[in-house]
Amino acid sequence: MRPELVERREELADHTTLRVGGPARRMITAETEADLIDVVRDLDAAGEPLLILGGGSNVLIGDAGFDGTVIKIATRGVAEDTAACSGAVITVAAGEVWDPLVSYSIERGWSGLEAMSGVPGLIGASPIQNVGAYGAEVSELISMVRTLDRSTGQVKTLFPVECDFGYRTSRFKSDPGRFLVLSVTFQLRLGSMSQPIRYPELARALGAEVGERVPATEVRQAVLALRTAKGMVLAEDDHDTWSVGSFFTNPIIAPERALDLPAGAPGFPQPNGTIKTSAAWLIEQAGFGKGYGNGSARLSNKHTLALTNRGGATAADLLRLAREIRAGVEAKFGVELVPEPVLVGCEL
Ligand SMILES: Cc1cc2nc3c(=O)[nH]c(=O)nc-3n(C[C@H](O)[C@H](O)[C@H](O)COP(=O)(O)OP(=O)(O)OC[C@H]3O[C@@H](n4cnc5c(N)ncnc54)[C@H](O)[C@@H]3O)c2cc1C
Repeated sequence: MRPELVERREELADHTTLRVGGPARRMITAETEADLIDVVRDLDAAGEPLLILGGGSNVLIGDAGFDGTVIKIATRGVAEDTAACSGAVITVAAGEVWDPLVSYSIERGWSGLEAMSGVPGLIGASPIQNVGAYGAEVSELISMVRTLDRSTGQVKTLFPVECDFGYRTSRFKSDPGRFLVLSVTFQLRLGSMSQPIRYPELARALGAEVGERVPATEVRQAVLALRTAKGMVLAEDDHDTWSVGSFFTNPIIAPERALDLPAGAPGFPQPNGTIKTSAAWLIEQAGFGKGYGNGSARLSNKHTLALTNRGGATAADLLRLAREIRAGVEAKFGVELVPEPVLVGCEL
């Protein structure tokens, strides 16, 4: 292993937005792609358990920590090709931070990412759960994902058709650990106007109609304001943001099951005939309002879908709360909530 790589024992709570997670045996920070590939190949060959960590904003790590090596992704670089007649094609290193890229793309007059302003985390994790917000999903803009396929040790480029993207899922999430994402190539449209607004709440905030385009800068500002009001933009001093964002995905249910839900339950028909309902609505209607809980793990005061650490919570505290909410929703509506974050060394 290269001696200059930073290597140390670390408390993982210091590397997650929930501020929970026990120690890792060691952590290595890889700042170049060559180092990243070398280190992962070497450790895989040695049979060492590995955890790839980006911004730690979509993981719940158990209190016992991780008995292996954590690789912290810190690679940098953006390569742009705007001469292409197909728009702006930008290839971004896995370690670049998501939101500054969104801001930069808008400044450069490239549209497509604006509705996903304010999402925490790094670029390399964006394809893992197919990041999405306000009706947009990153998979619509990805043209390639360059990976290290750890099953062969070879670098492999995957095209969207090979990524099995779905609502908050992908091949990377369903086959965890196999692919290390090295960089993501996005194909953005040229122009300062946004993509058509899809989400009624966002349209209302903009004074626009669903389907309209408005300046992308305005979409960014409106999204950041809406997200901030919901505790969905990270802020060190705001415990409502000490979370993983939404803790549960919105359930996708068969149409006949949807009929069993009370009148007023949100239901969004999906292309395959299923119905997506709202986890936040189910949680609230099952009696778990904003701020629910009485210890240091509680629902956010701003959004019922976020489980938060009010300071000093453990993974066990958060799991206890998550189980209580899941059981309450199941007992009342017969719908099983599925966690959105990746659980490491713990289970629900
Ligand atoms: C306040 C808040 C709001 C949020 N809002 C949203 C939202 O609106 N929409 C949304 O989709 N998500 C949202 N999230 C969740 C989260 O921000 C995203 O899922 C983000 O993409 C995670 O990035 P990360 O770098 O923090 O990933 P991490 O949490 O570090 O990792 C998540 C998973 O991806 C794996 N991984 C990370 N990097 C790589 C890589 N390079 N190669 C292979 N595997 C990798 C990890 O091993 C882990 O399994 C929110 C989270 C918070 C805290």
